[in-house]
Amino acid sequence: VADHDTKFESFSGKRVAVVGAGVSGLAAAYKLKSRGLNVTVFEADGRAGGKLRSVMQNGLIWDEGANTMTEAEPEVVSLLDDLRLRDKQQFPISQKKRYIVRNGVPVMLPTNPLELVTSSVLSTQSKIHILLEPFLWKKNDSSSKVSDASAEESVSGFFQRHFGQEVVDYLIDPFVGGTSAADPDSLSMKHSFPDLWNVEKSFGSIIVGAIRTKLAAKGGKSGETKSSPGTKRGLRGSFSFKGGMQILPDMLCKSLSHDEINLDSKVLSLSYNSGSRQENWSLSCVSHNETQRKNLHYDAVVMTAPLCNVKEMKVMKGGQPFLLNFLPEINYMPLSVLITTFTKEKVKRPLEGFGVLIPSKEQKHGFKTLGTLFSSMMFPDRCPSDLHLYTTFIGGSRNQELAKASTDELKQVVTSDLQRLLGVEGEPVSVNHYYWRKAFPLYDRSYGSVMEAIDKMEKDLPGFFYAGNHRGGLSVGKSIASGCKAADLVISYLESCSNDKKPDE
Ligand code: FAD
Repeated sequence: VADHDTKFESFSGKRVAVVGAGVSGLAAAYKLKSRGLNVTVFEADGRAGGKLRSVMQNGLIWDEGANTMTEAEPEVVSLLDDLRLRDKQQFPISQKKRYIVRNGVPVMLPTNPLELVTSSVLSTQSKIHILLEPFLWKKNDSSSKVSDASAEESVSGFFQRHFGQEVVDYLIDPFVGGTSAADPDSLSMKHSFPDLWNVEKSFGSIIVGAIRTKLAAKGGKSGETKSSPGTKRGLRGSFSFKGGMQILPDMLCKSLSHDEINLDSKVLSLSYNSGSRQENWSLSCVSHNETQRKNLHYDAVVMTAPLCNVKEMKVMKGGQPFLLNFLPEINYMPLSVLITTFTKEKVKRPLEGFGVLIPSKEQKHGFKTLGTLFSSMMFPDRCPSDLHLYTTFIGGSRNQELAKASTDELKQVVTSDLQRLLGVEGEPVSVNHYYWRKAFPLYDRSYGSVMEAIDKMEKDLPGFFYAGNHRGGLSVGKSIASGCKAADLVISYLESCSNDKKPDE
């Protein structure tokens, strides 16, 4: 306790600016505040939440950004406990029922190896390939020969080596389409699935690695007096909150005072001066009506704005421009989200469960969307009981132009796909549309250079830390973990600054 108190004392008066009020920035601010630091969040938009965006309208509740999250990361477990959000968590009904389209019809995905044997999602040949993967997997020959970043292996290349092309086409392609709007040929395996990448490094075979990791975890658990709540909760799968995902940023904002969060405050410039020992950073921001605020001073900065926005900022170091031209251009995936309702009697073949994903290969059957969430099947309180509410995603790398289409055109596209999948008849009762011009950064095969550039920014700018979904994973959970890690780094940095200061005092 004494040590903790001393730390609190050494931090008192220390000020940290957090740029961006998405989940990563808000999680960072929450952690910093709980450790006794003065935080100020700057958000360009008039609302907090970033890619979390729920709407309540006309008796409907829907999400235009992330729809669910998981708590695989310990940072998420702690945050939900600390914010007392457990009683607001909402778990989808029958969430294990997830579908992939095969030969034009939705097929339920197997949830265990036994179900895989009887499932029609893959051919017998591919099922045998999966079972024999410990003997059949091939080494990545190219990685030892070529060392430049552009040679990073693609997600399709990796899974092809382990499980064959059909697994790539019918499991991996729809999965990455549904979680990152990307395609498996463009994505870097190392950056998109770092855990599996490391499993191969340690065990070679993915199946052997998975079994050994599971056994090790079981062995570890048997020695414990009680099982970890995080592991147990992680097993409960995906969830949202009563009222939608926006509840999470709203609760995080509630933990901050009015002065600690500045909405409609776009950060334009940052300046670092190493002369003085504290408040080395100054920051300027602007609101929509152009009111400028300048020279706000801080000891450290946590940047969570997307890198395309960081590139637009003016950064100074020691009175000289610090050019960000070393930051590579990032490819972003555009995406439209269409929320439709249909009266129940007009849906002839409704499916219970989470949702359906459409592999690229199935476009030959006329499908144009990436997939649809069965939102009111998962959460019946999201619409009146005589309706079904669906959330459909269109665009991504598969169909970048279509993502930009008008609401009317997309309504036709979605109705046509839902007609094939669920037998909907006629027009939807309601349609809502949200277009994300830059929904997801593409972790492509040159993403290593982006990571290097982020490291360089942090190394060259003392007290500057970068967090968010451009680093270490796209999911809500990974973004929260990234924000919390940045907060820890700020704390260590400020501790080291106050230690450096002591001899002079
Ligand atoms: P953001 O949410 O992008 O926050 C960054 C913030 O910085 C924004 O609010 C922005 O306005 C602000 N900003 C930018 N420039 C400035 C500036 N100059 N000054 C001040 N502020 C600035 N993940 C899941 O786990 N499950 C899902 O189901 C899921 N579905 C998704 C569906 C969609 C349509 C999208 C788009 C994403 C989805 N994701 C999902 C991903 C997840 O929502 C995001 O990766 C995560 O929310 C990103 O959080 P963040 O804080 O890193 O970034």
